[in-house]
Amino acid sequence: MHRRQFLATAPLAGLAAGTGAVPALAQGFATTGGQVPAVQRFAVGDITVTCLSDGSLHIGPDALIGIDAAGYSELMEAGFRDPDTFRSAVNAFVIQTGDETILVDAGTADAMGPDLGRLPENLAAAGIDPRGVTKLLATHLHPDHVAGALKGGDAAFPNAELVVNETDRTFWSDESNFSGAGEMVQGFASLARNVLSAYSDRLTTFSGEDEVAPGVTAMPLPGHTPGHSGYMIASGDAQLLIWADIVHVAPVQMARPDIAIGFDVDPGQAVETRRQILDRVATDRMMVAGSHIGFPGLVQIARDGDGYRMVPAQWDYSL
Ligand SMILES: [Zn+2]
Repeated sequence: MHRRQFLATAPLAGLAAGTGAVPALAQGFATTGGQVPAVQRFAVGDITVTCLSDGSLHIGPDALIGIDAAGYSELMEAGFRDPDTFRSAVNAFVIQTGDETILVDAGTADAMGPDLGRLPENLAAAGIDPRGVTKLLATHLHPDHVAGALKGGDAAFPNAELVVNETDRTFWSDESNFSGAGEMVQGFASLARNVLSAYSDRLTTFSGEDEVAPGVTAMPLPGHTPGHSGYMIASGDAQLLIWADIVHVAPVQMARPDIAIGFDVDPGQAVETRRQILDRVATDRMMVAGSHIGFPGLVQIARDGDGYRMVPAQWDYSL
């Protein structure tokens, strides 16, 4: 077909002449100057995983253990990131498997400021009604993962069963673990207890590598918190590991897995767990989804010198 004939073919003719109507959704996007909703779907065999952004935060060198500002800047620049403006993501994920709509982590709600708390609007953009969420899988009970489980003190997901590692439930429930802790950690603990209490009549815990839903198996990854857990999703030959908080500042911790974060309950164990899982996913060439890896947080991991580098997942054209 000649170009002139192609352009003359309806409905492209209107566009070519500059007279075509722009669909309403695209018009809104064009006029607000913002991004399209931060929602991205990815197929894992017959299971659909939807990546959802809650927003972002800056995590600077002062929050990390084992690196100074100069070392931080050097790794950021090596990773083509500006050390002053770098943003770590806060992501949540929805797994649709069988009849279940499973939310993995619930975002920050209003606990961490205006750059975060966007999960509800992105859930809505994905067409997911909070009342339709059947399970809420918590990777751990830190506020950037479960503050959004509450709305006005009540369960934000009124029909969801809360699923959490028994070790995390026990740790955060015992006030004596926090008797000498600072105000911030006390706040973390009281939020965790409020969440456990709001879901107390439909709380399920697991220990070890338990299957928590069809095709979804918990994987304890201790250190960041005692019961910090990933979730392995498997369907047919396809696999995706939601590894939660294995990294918080990816450009730094991929290159230097020995760097911990001040929020780690046991930084030494967190480093050891990070080393083990990085070795495993690099060897197995496994796709991972990270809570704090730049949205949508889907990457594969390659060895790179003494450390690792991330290779972003391809956009899923199959959906
Ligand atoms: Zn986190």
